[in-house]
Amino acid sequence: MRVINFNAGPAGLPLPALERAKEELLDFKGSGMSIMEHSHRGKQYDAVHEETISLLTELLGIPDTHQVLFLTGGASQQFAQLPMNFLRPGESADYLMTGVWSEKAYDEAKLVGQARIAATAVQPDKKYVRVPRQDEFQLDPKAVYVHLTSNNTIYGTQWHTWPEVGDVPLVADMSSDFMWKPVDVSRFAFIYAGAQKNLGPSGVLIAVVRKDFIARGRQDIPKIFRYSTHADSNSLYNTPPTLAIYLCRNVLSWAKELGGLTQLEKRNREKGELLYGTLDKLSGFYRAPVEKDSRSYMNAVFYLPTPELDDAFVAAATRSGMVGLKGYRSAGGIRASLYNAVSPDDVRTLVSFMEEFARKNG
Ligand code: PMP
Repeated sequence: MRVINFNAGPAGLPLPALERAKEELLDFKGSGMSIMEHSHRGKQYDAVHEETISLLTELLGIPDTHQVLFLTGGASQQFAQLPMNFLRPGESADYLMTGVWSEKAYDEAKLVGQARIAATAVQPDKKYVRVPRQDEFQLDPKAVYVHLTSNNTIYGTQWHTWPEVGDVPLVADMSSDFMWKPVDVSRFAFIYAGAQKNLGPSGVLIAVVRKDFIARGRQDIPKIFRYSTHADSNSLYNTPPTLAIYLCRNVLSWAKELGGLTQLEKRNREKGELLYGTLDKLSGFYRAPVEKDSRSYMNAVFYLPTPELDDAFVAAATRSGMVGLKGYRSAGGIRASLYNAVSPDDVRTLVSFMEEFARKNG
């Protein structure tokens, strides 16, 4: 009965994580109520909170220098909260521009203080088909941080080599590719990701932050917006989104059972190769505009020969039980989001559909 879900976020979740939630919904561990009815200061919720943090710590190999935060307001709130915490008068932050989300992050920073574009890969048509190259960077060695968006959800580009930024703290919005493969957390001062793509439902944002960086944050902003407030209270300063965190716990234990991030990377590479392999093979019909070494393993964007065929493709795919393939408003075309919960078999079903569609309409 379940469809194959290629939504860009909120996105499909692994079935075992949902089944576990279903089993535990009315009576969490014999407590006579669901987890969302428990106090966030009670023993039952506390165990879920700690388990979610320890699963993240284990799967990502988070070093002692860093800690996990659960925040709300989505990645969009972080666009504002980051400069609020770290940009003081006279200081400046650098932004590496790869798409709509990095533009939004930069625009918010400019409202708070000084922000610079240190590199951009924007094209004259305002779209993006690659990430900037290191030789295009014009970094400010005095910047308080460098911000990047690790995966561009809308145009389907992804950083495959982290930029060298010297001693400047590196901040990454990893909303759409967090935990798609192992990552060296120690390279980053601040990682943040809305949960609703690879990790769980919307409503919670996961940040992995370097403790000494957080400690440097401004104290002259409202307490609720200071990262140090949330770090000092283990993300329990106010009521956290308990149900969303619980569901992340279920997804993370599924990921652990699957074999962790090394295994997820293998699956994700296999999926990407299947899909891009098909696009390259059928390049007379499908057009994949992103340059090969910037292709995203999470969001593959492509176009059929006409917008009418794009629409017919989406409609026929829906009839075949595959949803979420329509491209983002400003990009058009098709976008297949291949987050962690999408299996290689799901992608096999998609590529055989694509082959047949090209045969019939090419
Ligand atoms: N950054 C990226 C890379 C995204 O893909 C999105 C959402 N699609 C956002 C930020 C915004 O996230 P939210 O809606 O949770 O604020």
